[in-house]
Amino acid sequence: MSSFIDKIRRGFIFAKENPQLLYTIFLLIVIPTAFLISGENFLQAALKNQERLEKDRIGTMQDVFVAFTKDRLNDPTFLYKRIQSIIEQNNEVESFRVVSYENGQTKIIASLNQAEIGKEDIEDDRYFRSAALNFNSSLIFKENQNGTRHWRAIRAIMNDSNEPVGFIMTDISMAYIDTVIGKNIRQAYYFLIFILILIFYLLIRHARIIDYTVLYKKIKEIDTMKDDFIGMAAHELRTPLTVIRGYADLLKNIPALTDIDRENLRRIDVSTKDLDFLISDILDVVRIEQGRMSFSAKPIELRNFLPDVIDSFNQLASDKGLTLRQDISDGPLVINADETRLRQILVNIVGNSVKYTPHGEVVIKVSTTSDLVVIRVSDTGIGISAEDQKNLFQKFYRVKSDETKNIRGTGLGLWITNQIILGMGGTLSVESIKGKGTDFVVSFPRPINETIKNE
Ligand code: ADP
Repeated sequence: MSSFIDKIRRGFIFAKENPQLLYTIFLLIVIPTAFLISGENFLQAALKNQERLEKDRIGTMQDVFVAFTKDRLNDPTFLYKRIQSIIEQNNEVESFRVVSYENGQTKIIASLNQAEIGKEDIEDDRYFRSAALNFNSSLIFKENQNGTRHWRAIRAIMNDSNEPVGFIMTDISMAYIDTVIGKNIRQAYYFLIFILILIFYLLIRHARIIDYTVLYKKIKEIDTMKDDFIGMAAHELRTPLTVIRGYADLLKNIPALTDIDRENLRRIDVSTKDLDFLISDILDVVRIEQGRMSFSAKPIELRNFLPDVIDSFNQLASDKGLTLRQDISDGPLVINADETRLRQILVNIVGNSVKYTPHGEVVIKVSTTSDLVVIRVSDTGIGISAEDQKNLFQKFYRVKSDETKNIRGTGLGLWITNQIILGMGGTLSVESIKGKGTDFVVSFPRPINETIKNE
């Protein structure tokens, strides 16, 4: 007993944790039931209608017969011929007899069954009274014989003084019609079963979609957990890294260092800087993916802002023998941006240009259009093929070629840069010819009051 209750309780818990299951079962019950109820209603209405039409038809048939034979009841041959023509045209008519009525006595005067002619119609006696009272139309009595419908229709034949002089009796078997209807109903049920199977199939597929949704939710949760973990690990790496850099800086001040010691310290410095950049990039990726990167935008005049950023690359550029220059157009060059993030994207783009340009120059050009401020960083470096340009802003994408194989990088910089630019309302695009050079174009909308001032 307790195991049964236990099973029910477990069932409840399972259903609670998987609401999609209840939803599927609910639909599986409700949809077929709705189909069956509406099908049954429709069938009953159709049957009622069909019975009404059939009754009308029988009534008309008897009316016509009476109208034709009323004055020729004493002509059995004529009556028989009429009966035969009716039978030929109506295959559901099983028997048809004409009965005369005189002084309370009935006598069969015409019938399909020749043997009963001349006999008293005792069998139908019970119907005559009602038929005589209802002399303008046929009376139809329904009987059920072995599951098929049988009708007996009686109509009085009245003389000119409105007295009954006879009756006509018609037995009708609905077996043929019932077979046709039965066949149609069966076909309708087959169709219904087909529809139900289709619905069942769709529901199962639908249930799978729900499963996928649940799975997707779980994957998202795991993804967030992964991001959290990476974020935390990267953060924790920072502390020992700062300590290493601090001690390396201290060691640099020891006067008795040999050249080898200094070279080793330089290598420690380069590697720890690389590691620091990598940690910053990873933390940015996690921040962006979790939608936690915020921007505190303020108006920035690029004319004042850019030289600082560019100057920070002077040493590196001259070490490589590159010319680094700026070409800044006249007039105000104000954009609304987050200062730190703007510096980060420019450092990244200019840094890449210096990094991927073996000789020649890197030019930072700033200009305006009617509604944009455009920063174009052009270099005469290794260039990027059209194929690689398509994937450039994807996470971890690095061009694989002989020129890039010895250049270190993670493939995160441009993804982060693009995301930050989009986050600040700008756009980033690339124009490049392999072997000739590359232009990265950053565009920001001009602040509204700026645009008005200049129009
Ligand atoms: P990383 O430089 O760390 O590899 P990025 O996301 O900054 O990553 O750049 C992705 C790739 O785009 C680089 O690996 C490089 O192949 C290519 N790239 C970026 N800037 C330039 C450039 N100015 N000239 C040529 N190739 C570039």
